[in-house]
Amino acid sequence: MVQLFDKGRRPGGRVATRRLDGGLEFDRVEFDHGAQYFTVRHAEFEEWLRPSLERGQVAEWTGRLVSLSNGRTSPEPSPGRRYVGVPGMSAVAGGLAEGLSIHLSERVTRLERRGTEWWLQAESTGLCGPYQQVVCALPAPQGRELLRDQPAQFLSEMAGVALSPCWALLLHFAEALPVDFEGAFVADSPLRWIANNRSKPGRSSAECWVLHASPEWSQAAFDETPATIDTWLREALWQALDIKPREVRGTSSQRWKFAIPPAPLSSRYLHDAGLRLSACGDWCGGPRVEGAFLSGWELGRLLSQT
Ligand SMILES: Cc1cc2nc3c(=O)[nH]c(=O)nc-3n(C[C@H](O)[C@H](O)[C@H](O)COP(=O)(O)OP(=O)(O)OC[C@H]3O[C@@H](n4cnc5c(N)ncnc54)[C@H](O)[C@@H]3O)c2cc1C
Repeated sequence: MVQLFDKGRRPGGRVATRRLDGGLEFDRVEFDHGAQYFTVRHAEFEEWLRPSLERGQVAEWTGRLVSLSNGRTSPEPSPGRRYVGVPGMSAVAGGLAEGLSIHLSERVTRLERRGTEWWLQAESTGLCGPYQQVVCALPAPQGRELLRDQPAQFLSEMAGVALSPCWALLLHFAEALPVDFEGAFVADSPLRWIANNRSKPGRSSAECWVLHASPEWSQAAFDETPATIDTWLREALWQALDIKPREVRGTSSQRWKFAIPPAPLSSRYLHDAGLRLSACGDWCGGPRVEGAFLSGWELGRLLSQT
């Protein structure tokens, strides 16, 4: 039987949704603060998604996307269909997790090999095991840290993979912003992406915008406080839209330390057959949601045959 350990309170990792207090007026003030949407290019992913689409846990997002620079917009050439979780991105993993044995809020701090078996040190439960196989589906730097004492040959490959950070700012506005698009790829700004969360299927009517800073800006501002990030990115939003400041009802920020792998490995997964130890994720053959899926899918296929 497969057991999953995740340090998060909910499954999904970077495919995530955050809720703010909406007071009496709104039942839900929510933001997809990590992955915004995903595209589907491979048949395996399309087939795997079909039941989630049929159940309504995933739906197409048809919001109008543009390129934006200092108040000027131009149409964004469509890269194909875009999909989101319903009622939030976290629903994608929520559906996937049904019926599985998952230990949430459980950080794995150490792996131990006794003979041919694996034991895991989990922060709350303590020692768990024995297991026949271990898969580390974590961003490469976190996986590398966890596996640092293991003699796996693939550790040197993992060590070479970096993930860029991303500061996200979540803004709940009192009124609709005066724009005619739902999402924008932003240029000439600290911002890289902005999106109206409300425009996605199944969301509440609260005017919730997600702002993502560029990797370069996020790296330079990595150690700033959330209050400073809030001030700077709000200012960047007014400039990008070329509008005066608007009333904000609620705000929150998130620093994603490991957001996107700029140069993923070409292999879909790393596997040491002798140790029965593997690693996968969007940094293996990825990047992005579909890449993370394919990495896990192909590794799963290999392990089911061993
Ligand atoms: C701001 C942002 C915007 C993005 N936008 C998009 C987008 O628009 N489209 C797109 O396709 N992709 C996007 N992505 C990328 C996408 O989210 C990732 O490629 C994908 O979710 C990676 O999945 P993963 O399973 O490889 O890793 P993760 O989602 O990072 O999962 C790793 C899991 O490991 C857990 N973990 C880590 N360490 C431990 C430990 N020691 N013990 C236990 N558990 C641990 C974490 O809690 C997490 O749940 C975005 C990401 C970010 C951050």
